[in-house]
Amino acid sequence: AKSAGRSQIRYFNNAMRSKLKHQADIENDLQHGIKNQEFELFFQPIFTLNAPKVVSFESLVRWHHPRNGLVPPDQFIPIAENTGQIIELDLHILELAAKQLAQWQKQSLPSVKVTVNVSSRHFASLEFIDHIRTLYDKYDLNKGSLCLEITESGLIENLGLATKIIEGITPLGVQLYLDDFGTGYSALGYLHQLPIHVLKIDKSFVDQLTTKETPLIDAILSLAKSLQLEVVAEGIETPKQWALLKRKGCQLGQGYLVSKPMPSQQAMSFLVAQNTK
Ligand code: C2E
Ligand code: CA
Ligand code: CA
Ligand code: CA
Repeated sequence: AKSAGRSQIRYFNNAMRSKLKHQADIENDLQHGIKNQEFELFFQPIFTLNAPKVVSFESLVRWHHPRNGLVPPDQFIPIAENTGQIIELDLHILELAAKQLAQWQKQSLPSVKVTVNVSSRHFASLEFIDHIRTLYDKYDLNKGSLCLEITESGLIENLGLATKIIEGITPLGVQLYLDDFGTGYSALGYLHQLPIHVLKIDKSFVDQLTTKETPLIDAILSLAKSLQLEVVAEGIETPKQWALLKRKGCQLGQGYLVSKPMPSQQAMSFLVAQNTK
């Protein structure tokens, strides 16, 4: 038993070591990746459930890693959160999004909007207001065309400061989307205090949408209505989910049923084709 215990410890140590090595590799590669422009934004349409017309795109980052090929965000965003590199990475991604948006706005597509996912860590420092202001100035972005997606957890920890920061960027027209709504703290008490504009219903709730009762989605929709927030349903994969959400009064949706995230060129063709139908 003793030797079994020892080998378990060795096994554990090896597993730990290789995990730490993996993290250290990514940390190192991330630094190079930002410098070498290895990140590309894909764009997934957010559309009205009634028409359907595209109203905005969510930008989702992809990493063209020199050795590992195209790496999805789940494999490096959490690590960047741990190492603190998420701040630099997010600012780099915001710049990419602003640059792309400016290009689209020049191509007589003035109504296009883009949302960018950012870590809640930015909502702990007033500096973030200047970062966003500078981007709007530098790229001459249309009012409200660059918006932000954020999860609720970090906001609640620092409600006062987060509120100040959101109020600081609101004059630019920046809308705040509360991402993955329903999966986090859901301490509903803070919701009416936060100057947010849109709730994104997490895919896990949309997955449960069958013909059965859907008390959670119903509750979120009526909550949003009474707080006068818009709602986006995430991860719509079937026509049935679409129809049910529409019937329940959800205005906006997003999901593979309409389109997966696409490279910028393709996203633009999609927008033009969809909205001139
Ligand atoms: P998220 O913000 O909740 O993004 C939604 C994820 O669901 C995206 O995965 C999207 O491709 C996927 N998705 C959309 N519709 C469907 C659907 O109908 N079915 C299924 N199965 N999936 C769908 P992705 O692009 O892999 O991103 C994963 C997560 O990584 C994001 O979750 C977000 O938390 C994070 N992330 C992505 N891009 C960025 C970024 O630029 N900055 C930061 N900080 N985080 C990012
Ligand atoms: Ca998101
Ligand atoms: Ca989400
Ligand atoms: Ca998520």
